[in-house]
Amino acid sequence: GSRSDAQSKQDLPRVRINREGLSSEQFVARLLAEMSIEEKIGQLQQIHPEGDLLAEKVKETIATGGAGSLFFTGTEQLVHDAQRVAVEDSRLGIPLIIARDVIHGFRTVFPIPIGQASSWNPELVEQAAKVAANEASRVGIHWTFAPMVDIARDPRWGRIAESCGEDAVLASALGVAMVKGFQQPDEDGNLQGIAACPKHYVAYGRAEGGRDYNRVMVSRNELRNVYLKPFKGCIDAGAITIMSAFNTVNGVPATGHERLLREVLKDEWGFDGFVVSDWDSVKEMISHGYSADKRQAATQAMLAGLDMEMVSNCYQENLQQLVEEKTIDIAMVDDAVSRILLAKVKLGLFDKPYADTNQPELLCDAHLAVARELAQQSVVLLKNDGVLPLEKAALKKVAVIGPLADSPQDQLGTWTMDGLASDSRTSWAALQEMLHEGVQLTHTPCLQTKYREAPEEIATAVEAAKAADVVLLFVGEEEVLSGEAHSRSELSLPGSQGKLVHALAELETPVVMIVQAGRPLTIGKEIEAVDAVLYAWQQGTMAGPALADLLLGVVAPSGKLPVTFPKAVGQIPLYYNHMRTGRPSAADYTPPTLDKVKAMASSTRYSSHYIDSDPYPLFPFGFGLTYTQFEYRELEISNDSIGKDQVLVARVELKNTGNRAATEVVQLYTRDLVASTVRPVKELKQFRRVTLEPGEETIVELSLTYDSLGFYSEEEHYQVEPGKFEVSVGGSSATSLSKSFSVK
Ligand code: BGC
Repeated sequence: GSRSDAQSKQDLPRVRINREGLSSEQFVARLLAEMSIEEKIGQLQQIHPEGDLLAEKVKETIATGGAGSLFFTGTEQLVHDAQRVAVEDSRLGIPLIIARDVIHGFRTVFPIPIGQASSWNPELVEQAAKVAANEASRVGIHWTFAPMVDIARDPRWGRIAESCGEDAVLASALGVAMVKGFQQPDEDGNLQGIAACPKHYVAYGRAEGGRDYNRVMVSRNELRNVYLKPFKGCIDAGAITIMSAFNTVNGVPATGHERLLREVLKDEWGFDGFVVSDWDSVKEMISHGYSADKRQAATQAMLAGLDMEMVSNCYQENLQQLVEEKTIDIAMVDDAVSRILLAKVKLGLFDKPYADTNQPELLCDAHLAVARELAQQSVVLLKNDGVLPLEKAALKKVAVIGPLADSPQDQLGTWTMDGLASDSRTSWAALQEMLHEGVQLTHTPCLQTKYREAPEEIATAVEAAKAADVVLLFVGEEEVLSGEAHSRSELSLPGSQGKLVHALAELETPVVMIVQAGRPLTIGKEIEAVDAVLYAWQQGTMAGPALADLLLGVVAPSGKLPVTFPKAVGQIPLYYNHMRTGRPSAADYTPPTLDKVKAMASSTRYSSHYIDSDPYPLFPFGFGLTYTQFEYRELEISNDSIGKDQVLVARVELKNTGNRAATEVVQLYTRDLVASTVRPVKELKQFRRVTLEPGEETIVELSLTYDSLGFYSEEEHYQVEPGKFEVSVGGSSATSLSKSFSVK
């Protein structure tokens, strides 16, 4: 049984439980039995002290067991000292779980998540997460608020930068990879890394109009088929924490959503880790108009299954009274506390509460090598009239132009808490290093074009371009234009960068445009005007060397878009796996090539499209070119039908028909032609990176399971329905080869 509620903690003895012979659960139960109600509620509080971490008030909070978690602020030494207070001075010696937003790297910064997603490479993404976790462990961090697995279909939303894009299967695969890389479970289920925290549960990416924090309206079946899917993947992969979202879901704040937190996540999925709120999001239920005051917010959050409160203190102020008057059952509090303690045990915090100085040095060569490789793979080649790769031997004069060629902070991207601009290797620096002596390099930064009209700068750039054999033009978004609370209503190149592009594109000199941005931009006209385009997102510390590698052909691009690029803002939301309407539209048909469907689009005047725009994206989901060509031939399937527990294997011939080695991401999609609730025109099911030498050909096999062909019905039942399906394979969602099969 637990300590009497009335017993004050002052009267209680100092206790250290001997763990020998106890299972983790037994240990947690023993500890719980020793805890006063105040100490229990303390575990549910994450504190974020402003200013001095070791202020008497903060020390007192920790020493009296008033905090379960500390948001890493201040210095490593201060955090260490705060932990020492918890471990040595508090009555029960329960270590704090120290948290930090380690989103895309720690000191070694990797590409922003949407860039990482462009690699379609879960193994490498896992490695990067592992590096990030190990660097964070080295300074005493135990818990990261990542991965963000919100499905993002609206590039106006600033946090699309932090997402893995628009597709649930891709986001799930990469989210799972990050969870594994962060947590590094051993055979016994103990974690060698840091705790992952898939966020923001749930549907935060569907904010109305792309306006951050806005409401989300979504049907229950779409919630399951799309938005919950990557969370389920991460939980199944063992994520021990999860973060609730700021937004409401169909009118109820996600932080107080009993059905989604308690029923779906905990009861149905069997999640045995703990749920943390987002920053102040328990208290924000008052602003939403869902809770009258902090007391009601605490009640609603606890009933909903929210275990730990970040920053705000509704639990701290109200829970004891709520328990005493039996509004909240103590068993519910005990459950929340046990979950948090169990996570601390799994992380080994009772044995190793402090920084793990055995980890490799921050920013060591091995970490930078992973960052360089992932940065290379995160870049998507959108266009190439033949100017790329640059032929090093033939280069004489290269004009590097634009505000982002040498902008160490901007290349790091949003949520770079611990990466330093001074560690960034920029493109300008890398090109100087990598181009041999005979090449004349000039740099015209055009800094003002980032913000405003800058005719003089453009004129200077034109002169520099005229004198060169090739222009490398670095344009895009500054770091601060994406991320939390940074939604945009226009998705053009900011400032007068568009004018800069067009002025340069008019000249004879070929222009290679490198776009650094936190989101897809509607830059079809600029792309049309220039000779080649690399979409680089924001690539982190090693952006420069990685881009130079690609420009010079040291490696060939292999990135594919994890999100559809719209032509115009008015088309948003635009995503590949949309539903059909009752008015057949060209965009609904698969597999015809774009040319075939275009003809049809013009003949279907009363279909679901805009009269001033065609229904197509600028670039489809999954698209990306490289320095060679891949040919897909002879799609075959192992069976014409598939039944329960069976697998259908698709085989396709893939040939590198060009003269350079490169990697292709082979993608497999399916379509359920007729169903009891209508299904998307296409759904990604499988993908694989395949590297081929020039002229090499291979057979790529991808398998489809029966279970993967189902969906949640309106009644939220997962079902695989018999009937006709199509499978298609190709190098983007605009696949060209398809076969029919049936589900029995
Ligand atoms: C964000 C979270 C983040 C948290 C802590 C919030 O504003 O929505 O993604 O983890 O702050 O920094």
